[in-house]
Amino acid sequence: MSTTATTETRTEEGRICVQLQGIHKFYGAVHALRGVDLAIRRGEVCVAIGPSGSGKSTLLRCINQLEQISAGRVFVLGELAGYDEIDGRMHVLPPKRIAEQRRRTGMVFQRFNLFPHMTAIGNVMEGPIQAKGVPKALARQRAMALLQRVGLAPLAERYPSQLSGGQQQRVAIARALAMEPEVMLFDEPTSALDPELVGEVLDVIKDLAGSGMTMMLVTHEIGFAREVANHLVFMDEGVVVEEGDPREVLSRPRNPRTQAFLSKVL
Ligand code: ADP
Ligand code: MG
Repeated sequence: MSTTATTETRTEEGRICVQLQGIHKFYGAVHALRGVDLAIRRGEVCVAIGPSGSGKSTLLRCINQLEQISAGRVFVLGELAGYDEIDGRMHVLPPKRIAEQRRRTGMVFQRFNLFPHMTAIGNVMEGPIQAKGVPKALARQRAMALLQRVGLAPLAERYPSQLSGGQQQRVAIARALAMEPEVMLFDEPTSALDPELVGEVLDVIKDLAGSGMTMMLVTHEIGFAREVANHLVFMDEGVVVEEGDPREVLSRPRNPRTQAFLSKVL
């Protein structure tokens, strides 16, 4: 697979791709996010770690607008997500605008959620045809190139049930890429896989990172974080407790909560 870009080349432009300001999220009485501020720069690989229930998935879902935030602001490429702010008042955007904004962030889940009645290539073509009106022949051509990229071109005509978990997850990544997102969000993309299939999915993600894709990844793969990430975020109880250079945070965590978590997982 390709080389990983250095921190310098990734951040040379320094443009902030995703910016979170004071994000709160309530699910009923559950206060899942309690004031999260975070900036992800263009080309950055940001890895979020933290105990179960700390709000990692919720954070990704708020960036992707799968959840409506309770307070704060999300900016993607400088554009306020979900709202128009007019004279200091927030107005919810119409569904069509929200759908357009959501396409800028591709999301890959722990469970691959492929359409079972469609082949691998059918799954990858579907979004561009339905949401973007891309002609079928062109969508097929692009989908094949993406399957090639994730190493699955020979299996393009297989159905999900005829693919391994690792292969299905690679199709899911190709499907997200087909929408040409500016940012890719991965929520524990290897957690549902048998151990021997984890590597092939991480290799695809690593390759994507090397190509300069901006991404945020929730994972328990600390080795991967150390090797590929250039921004590590530790979350606990709905807040970002500590963040910084992965090697720095992993080897010299400053906050006692980070230290306690890492002593359990390392
Ligand atoms: P993580 O991904 O770090 O494990 P989550 O973002 O899934 O954490 O959850 C954060 C908190 O929000 C937890 O207390 C969880 O139980 C709660 N939560 C998540 N999703 C929902 C939901 N749809 N309804 C109610 N509570 C939820
Ligand atoms: Mg989660």
